[in-house]
Amino acid sequence: MTSPVWHPFTQHGLGEPIPLVERAEGAVLHTRDGRAVIDAISSWWVTTHGHCHPRIMAAVAEQTQRLDQLIFAGWTHEPAEQLAAGLVAIMPQSLTRVFFSDSGSTSVEVALKMALGYWAARGEIRSRILVMEHSYHGDTIGAMSVGARGVFNRTYEPLLFDVGRIPFPAAGAEQTTLDALESLCRSGDAAALIVEPLILGSGGMLVYRPQVLAQMRDICAAHGVLFIADEVMTAWGRTGTLLACEQAGVVPDILCLSKGLTGGAIPLAVTMASEAVFQAHWSADRARMFFHSSSYAANPIACAAANANLAIWREEPVLDRVAALAAMQAERLVALGRYCHFDNPRQLGTIAALDLKTGDDAGYLNSLAPRLMAFFRERDVLLRPLGNTVYVMPPYCITPEQLGQVWDVIGEAAISF
Ligand SMILES: *Cc1c(COP(=O)(O)O)cnc(C)c1O
Repeated sequence: MTSPVWHPFTQHGLGEPIPLVERAEGAVLHTRDGRAVIDAISSWWVTTHGHCHPRIMAAVAEQTQRLDQLIFAGWTHEPAEQLAAGLVAIMPQSLTRVFFSDSGSTSVEVALKMALGYWAARGEIRSRILVMEHSYHGDTIGAMSVGARGVFNRTYEPLLFDVGRIPFPAAGAEQTTLDALESLCRSGDAAALIVEPLILGSGGMLVYRPQVLAQMRDICAAHGVLFIADEVMTAWGRTGTLLACEQAGVVPDILCLSKGLTGGAIPLAVTMASEAVFQAHWSADRARMFFHSSSYAANPIACAAANANLAIWREEPVLDRVAALAAMQAERLVALGRYCHFDNPRQLGTIAALDLKTGDDAGYLNSLAPRLMAFFRERDVLLRPLGNTVYVMPPYCITPEQLGQVWDVIGEAAISF
């Protein structure tokens, strides 16, 4: 019997196999048919410390004995209070407020609404959102509106709102980006700029220089345009530091966090805001409150998982693990990047990527990606190339042997395609 499940980003008409995973541990997925598969993309960028991390699982188990779910409008609970305080302590000092939701996309929607609320409260008509070319911020309507337009969202285009777009700051072309931002900021209707700091994930693991991020931040500040950092993918050590923004000495006005917030174990998101953004909504007038909620905002079990993640960050040498993984990635990337089959090897922290040279069109829908994915799957490695871009983004607990196996398979693919 065929399954009734409708999978995300999946063309069911192609009849590709969909393996069933029964359990997982560390960097390894165990399938029902007895295979051990290396999860080289952290189950789509979420699993930072590895699957079923004992401290996170224990915190979840413990929380399930106390409180499962609670309305979060007008009520609160200890795991959320502890998490908010923990985040304020570890994140940049000026981000003093923590708004809870349940996914990266939602944290972006919240950020956009906060930005418009901020300007509305100041009595200025500013509603244009500025975005960077090739960005990805999620798949809800607002998040798609501020993301790259393409085959992913062409059908929904009539529902998407207009934004101001700046070009990607490719090496050597950075000034064009900065000039475009300056001119959009001058137009006077810009409410906020939203960016993925230092690396665009879904856009193809495109890396740009920290100095450019810092200059973009300065331009926004000069014009009062709010700066929203979407660190849904980049936070929690992914790029080598707790936040990618740190590497540019940048502090945003609004910060989106999700994916690794719970160590990747349970859905949860936060949008952190500066005091100015919070105060803009502060009033005795109920009509000026922040009108947003998710049913599962600050779910206590999810918060308990996130608190365990924070404890791991406080008590264990996470950044040392990240540095060790980054060094291993660099070694393999350099070795493989010399192959004539590859172009543009690049790395940021634990993320390593390269482009497989292909005669075909290199877009997301070229036929190479699914063939590569199948090739890797048959060799018990979970990789999901973006078009002809192959990237490795493993959990920090991956062993040198496991990582070696991943890169061996990529090398094998290079000579097979
Ligand atoms: C994954 C991602 C999102 C969306 O997060 P979901 O939890 O999948 O909704 C938003 N922004 C960035 C940068 C992401 O990588």
